[in-house]
Amino acid sequence: MTALDVRWDAVMMRNYGTPPIALDHGSGVRVWDTDGREYLDLVGGIAVTSLGHAHPAIVAAVTEQVGRLAHTSNLAMHEPGVRLAERLVDLLDLPTRVFFANSGAEANECALKMARLHGRAEGRTEIVSCNNSFHGRTMGALSVTGNAAKREPFAPLPGPVTFVDFGDVAALEAAVGAQTAAVIVEPTLGEGGVVPPPAGFLADVRRICDAAGALMIVDEVQSGIGRTGHWFASQAEGVRPDVITLAKGLGGGLPIGACLGVGAAGELFAPGDHGSTFGGNPVSCAAALAVLTTIADDHLLDNVKTVGEHLAHRLDGLASPLVADVRGSGLWRALALTGDHAAAVEAAARTRGLLVNAVKPDAIRLAPPLILTEAEVDEAVPLLAAALNEASP
Ligand SMILES: *Cc1c(COP(=O)(O)O)cnc(C)c1O
Repeated sequence: MTALDVRWDAVMMRNYGTPPIALDHGSGVRVWDTDGREYLDLVGGIAVTSLGHAHPAIVAAVTEQVGRLAHTSNLAMHEPGVRLAERLVDLLDLPTRVFFANSGAEANECALKMARLHGRAEGRTEIVSCNNSFHGRTMGALSVTGNAAKREPFAPLPGPVTFVDFGDVAALEAAVGAQTAAVIVEPTLGEGGVVPPPAGFLADVRRICDAAGALMIVDEVQSGIGRTGHWFASQAEGVRPDVITLAKGLGGGLPIGACLGVGAAGELFAPGDHGSTFGGNPVSCAAALAVLTTIADDHLLDNVKTVGEHLAHRLDGLASPLVADVRGSGLWRALALTGDHAAAVEAAARTRGLLVNAVKPDAIRLAPPLILTEAEVDEAVPLLAAALNEASP
């Protein structure tokens, strides 16, 4: 049989380039490629495999559910979907209604349609977003993504959208007004390179939205469901958003997104306003319930805090001239590099059996499973140190 990369190149669209690795199976924080080589996985499928690979709770829940009922469409209710919505509302601890989608982009599309309805009576249509943000690849989500190179080939996009610098309170205050339907913001820029805002920024966004009558949409697709050591990063800041979007870690590897409407925002849709054939299918909901139950039962939020601190401490100790800064929180960290060395570091780490992610040309992202142990950190960091050494010019 021809090698997988040759077959990939023959039939796959060019949008991803050719991935440098072909994975076969995984267990915990380890994956094995198709040649049988083992890797410590500190990427977690881009902050998705929150319980690691092949976690028994997910395997059991999904197996049971797929054998019982895999799909209903939105023409029928089902227990896993309602229970998952109940659990999310409980965790948020606010009066909330839930819409299930299949991805982060779709969760944000839902939020953007809610913003349209919120602004409709007063003719507010503008969305304010941040430079260097990422909200997804569909036309609506792309329109509010603060990366001109990703947007411009696909113009015209829905609008109007105004971008301000992430963390710039004065710029946000100036931008948000009577024309603004919503502000959409990540608690920490994920694809932007795990960049936290100045302290109190989310509370400032809340205040500015309240003053202008704009909806506050917090995109927790990457930050939510334990990544920072809290169920929701906005909750840790004591901020009550109008809309929270979730995806990535929620399904532990199964595709699911959620849009949570708090208070009046949860009442915006009337029957017929929005929908999804696959959204919130019973199998993905069963997986997400297993994720939430395991995070709670195994005290994984505490694990994220303690192992995350240990990871940060070990990363701080990397004596490499390539490392300019270590940033992030919980099990969501980035090494800011002194130049565009991230691709070389990622490749050098891979040859040593460690998966990390060159999230930016000059930044390495770590978003490992929430089950990561200190011993696994201690195994990974020397491999990363060796990779940094190899990549040093
Ligand atoms: C990954 C991501 C998205 C897009 O999610 P998809 O499932 O790829 O559509 C949206 N927002 C944030 C903050 C993300 O990190």
